[in-house]
Amino acid sequence: CGIVGYIGHRPAIPVLLDGLKKLEYRGYDSAGVAVLEQGGITTCKAVGKLVALEDKLGADFSQTCMGIGHTRWATHGRPSDLNAHPHMDTEAKFAVVHNGIIENYLELKEWLIEQGHHFISETDTEVLPHLVEYFYQGDLVATVREVLNHLKGSFAILVMSRQNPDILVAARKDSPMVVGLGENEFFVASDIPAILNYTRNTYIIEDGEMVVLTKDGVKVMDFKGQEKEKQLYEVKWDA
Ligand code: GLU
Repeated sequence: CGIVGYIGHRPAIPVLLDGLKKLEYRGYDSAGVAVLEQGGITTCKAVGKLVALEDKLGADFSQTCMGIGHTRWATHGRPSDLNAHPHMDTEAKFAVVHNGIIENYLELKEWLIEQGHHFISETDTEVLPHLVEYFYQGDLVATVREVLNHLKGSFAILVMSRQNPDILVAARKDSPMVVGLGENEFFVASDIPAILNYTRNTYIIEDGEMVVLTKDGVKVMDFKGQEKEKQLYEVKWDA
């Protein structure tokens, strides 16, 4: 299973697909991508190998320059197009990809249903975009921080929002994550090979860290919002 996120100046989809291919060794049963378009977020998901997703995307895919991608190894809910990530809230305002397990998802799901939220998948992950929607008041970073406070389990997550088209937010606990630093383009992925075609300058993200990526740079902070100084790790080897 793997995650890839991109924000920069290239069409995102080929970058996401290339990254996901480099993460195939981690194993998966389905895959999907979400990109931010003029009118909102669109997703494409397919059970099976990445070629199935590529077939579904076709040649005429979106050319927008920010997106998130995922290969899923199902833990909660069978492998299916519907259970594949990215997952969204009811109004498709937010899209989330997630590796790991949200251990308290049932409790959160019941509570969200009481609040009027409607679920369409069998996954633990789907609580995440709904929680983001529930807490959102305009600041995506603060919202993700609030959501993280309610989670038990393991996660590497990426969140994008229709209302905040300039940022991508990531967070990790007990699931690997690296950030790639390019020139006016930034990457986030489960492992280094996913970004090596684009940059060798990386930050290795640790447990309890959140990352905010924009076209202008990357900020790393803890789950309380305290900014952290990161050591640059230059990759000297080839994948
Ligand atoms: N628990 C999530 C699911 O089953 C994510 C699995 C993964 O790490 O790919 O959808």
